[in-house]
Amino acid sequence: NRRFLLAARPQGMPKPDDFQLDTQPAPEPADGQVLLRTRFLSLDPYMRGMMDEAGPGYAPGVKLGQTMVGGTVSEVVASRNARFQVGQLVLSSAGWQEYALSDGSDLTPLGEMSRPSLALGGLGMPGFTAYVGLLDIGEPKPGETVVVAAATGAVGSVVGQLAKLKGARAIGIAGGAEKCRHAVEVLGFDECLDHRAPDLKARLAAACPDGIDVYFENVGGEVLDAVLPLLNLHARVPVCGFIAHYNEERGGAATDKRTQLLATVLGKRVRLQGFIILDHYADRFAAFRRDMTQWIDEGRIVLVEDVVERLEQAPDAFIGLLQGRNFGKLVVRVSE
Ligand code: NDP
Repeated sequence: NRRFLLAARPQGMPKPDDFQLDTQPAPEPADGQVLLRTRFLSLDPYMRGMMDEAGPGYAPGVKLGQTMVGGTVSEVVASRNARFQVGQLVLSSAGWQEYALSDGSDLTPLGEMSRPSLALGGLGMPGFTAYVGLLDIGEPKPGETVVVAAATGAVGSVVGQLAKLKGARAIGIAGGAEKCRHAVEVLGFDECLDHRAPDLKARLAAACPDGIDVYFENVGGEVLDAVLPLLNLHARVPVCGFIAHYNEERGGAATDKRTQLLATVLGKRVRLQGFIILDHYADRFAAFRRDMTQWIDEGRIVLVEDVVERLEQAPDAFIGLLQGRNFGKLVVRVSE
């Protein structure tokens, strides 16, 4: 069983040496357990927080020397649990490794899926995040302007497409000309702006002549600076993440923006609402799966994946995610 352990707590951007590849014999299931083989491993921004001792804020960090955590699509390869059959695919949290044991309590059977990896992306946690964050908190109305950054990523790509589906204008922000072209031509954004090119503030103002009604916050940083002056009265800002700050020291450079942020929220009567998707599964997940499956079948939602081959590539691919090298939902194909 090859697996990646957390070898060191990163200072700033994680380095390959922060992960250690370890090899053990595959474990044997005890009575009541199943042995899982990882098919796909999801790589997600929250994992950066899990590398810190304090964790991302809603869960403790991974302990040094422990296997890196992560969602997986896994296959049951041995079963001593009557609820699971060999060959069955399940959604699991097996982490960055090839094999894992489970008593079944944390497993969700996947049933028939033509692209099982989508259970980690557009039909799973990131897609659900876009759905709850945009539809329940952002509440876009026809003709309104919705802005989202990391627009070609796992969450942002679905946010933009749902905004269009609800009749809003969707303005994306992404890193580089190729991602921006993809956002417009494939995902259907009305416009997409490159945050690495100069004058983002002026270009965003030009792209949003009627201001911004919904800003789906994924990144913070300079994008947030450009968005704030354009927010309309009663704008909604689902605060989903702030990846531009994930490699900063806690309490560091992000703090000085607070006054400006709060003054805007107050003056514009903005509802600024943080959310953790874990809170919404019981209420909203069934509706999400029903709607999303239908929209995919109708060709109204496109899900783009960035599939990296082999578990060994996981640290490099994860560091790439924090730098914008991924193009779409990042997953690792661990086995066929
Ligand atoms: P993505 O697939 O979008 O990958 C991350 C992307 O972030 C990169 O490709 C890059 O895109 C962008 N990025 C990285 N650094 C910066 C920066 N300094 N400035 C601007 N953009 C940057 O990841 P996800 O879709 O999985 O996650 C998007 C956000 O949603 C994250 O903040 C994540 O933490 C949050 N999230 C929150 C959840 C919740 O429950 N609240 C659940 C799931 C995700 P580009 O090259 O286009 O800049």
